[in-house]
Amino acid sequence: MNYTQARSEELQAELQRLQTEYQFYCRKGLSLDLSRGKPSARQLELSTGMLTCLSDGDECLTESGFDCRNYGVLDGLPEMKRMFGELLGIPTNYILIGGNSSLNLMYDTVARAMLYGFFNSPRPWCREQKVRFLCPSPGYDRHFAICESLGIEMIPVKMLPTGPDMDAVERYVNQDPLVKGIWCNPKYSNPDGVTYDDATVRRLAALKPAAPDFRIFWDNAYAVHDFAEKGDELADIFAACRKTGREDMVLYFTSTSKISFPGAGVSMMAAAPRNLEGIRKVLAVQTIGHDKLNQLRHLRFFKNAEGVRAHMAKHAEILAPKFHRVDEILSEDLASLGIAEWTRPRGGYFISFYTMPGCAARAFNLCREAGVTLTCVGATYPYGRDPEDRNIRLAPTFPSDADLELAMRVFTLCVRIASLEKLIA
Ligand code: PLP
Repeated sequence: MNYTQARSEELQAELQRLQTEYQFYCRKGLSLDLSRGKPSARQLELSTGMLTCLSDGDECLTESGFDCRNYGVLDGLPEMKRMFGELLGIPTNYILIGGNSSLNLMYDTVARAMLYGFFNSPRPWCREQKVRFLCPSPGYDRHFAICESLGIEMIPVKMLPTGPDMDAVERYVNQDPLVKGIWCNPKYSNPDGVTYDDATVRRLAALKPAAPDFRIFWDNAYAVHDFAEKGDELADIFAACRKTGREDMVLYFTSTSKISFPGAGVSMMAAAPRNLEGIRKVLAVQTIGHDKLNQLRHLRFFKNAEGVRAHMAKHAEILAPKFHRVDEILSEDLASLGIAEWTRPRGGYFISFYTMPGCAARAFNLCREAGVTLTCVGATYPYGRDPEDRNIRLAPTFPSDADLELAMRVFTLCVRIASLEKLIA
């Protein structure tokens, strides 16, 4: 039955039947979670060897003989820069190694801009009458939280299957001098799983910002996180900007959080040398250096970029069946009903689900009452407001196969009930 074409009596009968099924699940006292975009225990096991790969003092020395147990090396070990550089195709002199979190690097970068500005800022951002950021939406809630926390006005820009709506981006960036930044999560975007196409990357590189110190925050968190046989390819933003003479516009971030251990990985930032110079100056005031032993552990364990790629293939073996199963369940339960659509990413951590307009919050609440936790609806939009009340971010990685199966069945049931209620009302 296609709900959108069915007669009202048919819909009523279907709703009654589904409510009975729903009560059955509610009585089970379930406690399931589809909200956590983090690796499962099996994935963490893949990196356990890293915990023991530094066992005596000699192993704490770098290639050049520096003892990583001691203070020093502000912006990371040269060999760590080399590994990230090889993995991502970035020159090593553009790279700065951070601590355990790229989000931390992003927050610090925006906060530094507020306090000091960039080398080409007329004044620190906090002295501007207002600072605005473009926020391709749906997007990563923690990007939005950084803006909210620092009083930066967020302008939502629609995400298309090719990346952010570039007509809107060009209009805002090229005309409004208060637009100082754009958040981009360019490969397997959180939550839509979109990889920006080449034209989008070219158009970003060709922006002619009204603000001299406009920056693209290029959060490539899922750079090597393919789980399909053939992953998506993302064009090189630095190369594109080199052609337009605007390399200074790009601030690139990533980390090994979902390669090794979230919370205990190594983060990286890359930017043209003129940007890095200013960043290093302030960084030197913030810290004497980040955790070099952790950098060494990663180097010893992975050895090189090829080692990281081989490791990601093991993650893919675990993740691909989970994403496949979620897609199967969604298709079985919903495909013929005309009430929902969802993404089929080839990598990353999320499936982005769209209900009929005005149904996401109700489906979320029904799930909660039945013991299934979803990512808060609205969280994927600036200020927590999904204008159409449609998007739900599904995170299939963390639950066991059995929990995932059950949680997804409850989820599709709640989506059907929410949709029927809407259609009958
Ligand atoms: N960026 C995106 C797009 C993410 O989805 C996440 C985590 O979910 C992060 C950054 C966090 O990265 P990190 O652990 O390096 O702070």
